[in-house]
Amino acid sequence: MISIHPTSGEKIKEYKTFSNVEVSSILDDVNIAYHSWRKTNYDNRAQYLNHLAKVLRNNFVELAKLITLEMGKPIAESKSEIEKCAWVCEFYAENGESFLQDEHIQTDFTQSFISFEPIGTVLAVMPWNFPFWQVFRFLAPNLMVGNTAVLKHASNVSSCALKIEEIVKEAGIPQNVFRTLLIDSSQVELVIQHSNIQAVTLTGSESAGSSVASIAGREIKKTVLELGGADPFIILDDANIKDCVNTAISARFLNTGQSCIAAKRFIVLESILDKFIELVLEKMKLLKVGDPFEETTHIGPLAKQVFVDEINEQVQQSISMGAHLLFGGKSIDGRGFFYEPTLLTNCNQDMPVMNEETFGPVLSIISANSEEEAIKIANNSELGLGGCVWTQNIKKGIQLARQIETGAVFINDMTKSDPRLPFGGIKKSGYGRELSREGIREFTNVKTIVVKE
Ligand code: NAP
Repeated sequence: MISIHPTSGEKIKEYKTFSNVEVSSILDDVNIAYHSWRKTNYDNRAQYLNHLAKVLRNNFVELAKLITLEMGKPIAESKSEIEKCAWVCEFYAENGESFLQDEHIQTDFTQSFISFEPIGTVLAVMPWNFPFWQVFRFLAPNLMVGNTAVLKHASNVSSCALKIEEIVKEAGIPQNVFRTLLIDSSQVELVIQHSNIQAVTLTGSESAGSSVASIAGREIKKTVLELGGADPFIILDDANIKDCVNTAISARFLNTGQSCIAAKRFIVLESILDKFIELVLEKMKLLKVGDPFEETTHIGPLAKQVFVDEINEQVQQSISMGAHLLFGGKSIDGRGFFYEPTLLTNCNQDMPVMNEETFGPVLSIISANSEEEAIKIANNSELGLGGCVWTQNIKKGIQLARQIETGAVFINDMTKSDPRLPFGGIKKSGYGRELSREGIREFTNVKTIVVKE
């Protein structure tokens, strides 16, 4: 497994993949740890999570640099990512117990209630784009439940994967409650099959999700899938255009466009189209592309060379189908995996930038002649993760939000993940939820207990 610095294309480090025998021995150790971890009480586990938040904050500059080194995210965003990990630990430390309280149900028995109990060890297969956040948003609730966890991280962020194991240890969390497995994706099947694994959560592409869920289905093990998104960003003619344009830039270019919930299809009512294009173009010209270690950089490199080739292919094919290129449109010569911030207008629904997920700094605009048409375009996607609607008529915004086929809709803001709110998709964006009360209950045994006297 090779870590490459996307800014220079140079190798950082090579890691040896764990053998199947090593993996099996780790899974046995984690299983032993589970039997004592599940007996700790909520107060204990909350204390550990609060320690973990402290360790993250105490080391946030070093951890942020590691993210930027390994996957190229602008350093200011890497710092925010670490802060958000600390937040999710504290959030579950504070609220986990109340989310998992017994729920009493009125029946004709003397007593009947639901008890939310741990299930064992959960395998997490995670992507590189938020190499800390993706892990912590699954890990914090599972630790609070009393589950143990193993991580198979993306093979280009092994340094982050090992660092997470190290800081969990530094927080004093008992040995083997959480372990990183440096394994190839072909070894994931063996891990799922192992009798010590009870469930799997995967964040990543549709093909990885489909493969992992098939194996888990065969083994009768629960899965949560967080897959891709092609989120619509709908702009009605009464939108606050200044706020809308500023947010559009963040919603599309955060993490150099490599976010599942990035706005990917800008659906703009015709009456406001020219103004939106003019203002967006103005803002895009100010985006600073370059060294992600500089605090003022907005756009860093993409994580791998192959992503530069893929995004360019989507852009060129869309141009050949009639999209107008107003800005950018090519990779940047020299070292590293850079692609110019790109603006495409006059898009239609048959173009790759509209009917595929675009994972890079490309803002694509399609016009709609009515609100009904905007909703139709928004729902014409196999994916259903997030989306937003811009209007000053909140009643109408909520009406439209209810018609959009996604797991979340934000009115007058960009889609964000937030520990307090459920996160996840429908259609081919996956199933199950992370974060909030819904997320912590995904990997529990929802046990019915009935008493008859
Ligand atoms: P990816 O190629 O699917 O990789 C994700 C993880 O799955 C990696 O650990 C990868 O390991 C592993 N993997 C890949 N193929 C596998 C297989 N056949 N069996 C078992 N494991 C397999 O995705 P990516 O390129 O890293 O991430 C980008 C995708 O993730 C985008 O589609 C994005 O939208 C999605 N995403 C979704 C969310 C969400 O919350 N919905 C959040 C972030 C990203 P290797 O690295 O070893 O291949």
